[in-house]
Amino acid sequence: MNGEFVPWDDAKVHVLTHTLHYGSGVFEGIRAYETATGPAIFRLPEHIDRLIYSGKALNMTLRWSRDELIEAVVETVRKSGHPSCYIRPLAFYGYGKMGVNPIGNPVELIIACWPWGAYLPHDMVDLKVSSFIRIHPQSTVADAKIVGHYVNSIMSILELQGTHYHESLLLDTDGAIAEGPGENFFMVKGGEILTPSLGTILPGITRRTIIEIASDLGIPVREQKILLADALSAEEAFYTGTAAEVTPIRSIDDAILGTGKIGPITEKIKSTYLSAVRGELPQYEHYLTRIA
Ligand code: PMP
Repeated sequence: MNGEFVPWDDAKVHVLTHTLHYGSGVFEGIRAYETATGPAIFRLPEHIDRLIYSGKALNMTLRWSRDELIEAVVETVRKSGHPSCYIRPLAFYGYGKMGVNPIGNPVELIIACWPWGAYLPHDMVDLKVSSFIRIHPQSTVADAKIVGHYVNSIMSILELQGTHYHESLLLDTDGAIAEGPGENFFMVKGGEILTPSLGTILPGITRRTIIEIASDLGIPVREQKILLADALSAEEAFYTGTAAEVTPIRSIDDAILGTGKIGPITEKIKSTYLSAVRGELPQYEHYLTRIA
């Protein structure tokens, strides 16, 4: 917390912390995996770069350099002793002065980590198309990972309370598929993988990895606008994210996709991703920061 290790129960902030009132923070979700030679963090520099990019969208200057932030994450994981964990860096405007304008408040930074298993603990998930539209790229810096953006995700998740759906799916203002509340969307049709283009979505680091894995496997990938009707006729679909990893989708608004079972392309992508993050595939070794 702000450069020091603090016992879990002492990691506290003031109730007038700016971000607590106005959502003016930026964060990351990163995973460290257990590998044959100890824990390894997957694509850590890319996550730190996105954190810095997100901070810039809110005029934040972090007190630490890119390399210091990378090292701080490594140290936090090392000190935690967890063989695998989820890592949450959060930069936020702290307590100083009240009012919507954040400038003048201190920019604080925490890095926490804890063991976290499957984010969506199901073999396959049933999605409900949200009645809420994904935040518009002209309303904010949509590709920054800003705390306040998650109210849009939360609204879509709260709609699922008391239903049989596992997760929501958000459309953009044109009725095209944007993303999940914390995941990017992929579908398979005619042997090809399709995923929504960048614009209204968070540019997922897992999304980028999956596009690379697919092309390494010789499966064509296209980034394009996907209308809901196109998705409903998909043979396979899956969500990706650092937390969600690769989660196969069974249905959208109760329309079963393909056979309703995990499809062969999803299966292959998922197993390759899980082998890559666990350091089992030499061609993806450069994505690992090993905690020696
Ligand atoms: N979209 C949203 C809205 C998210 O919160 C996340 C999780 N960070 C993702 C997509 C997936 O991003 P990543 O693969 O970088 O975790």
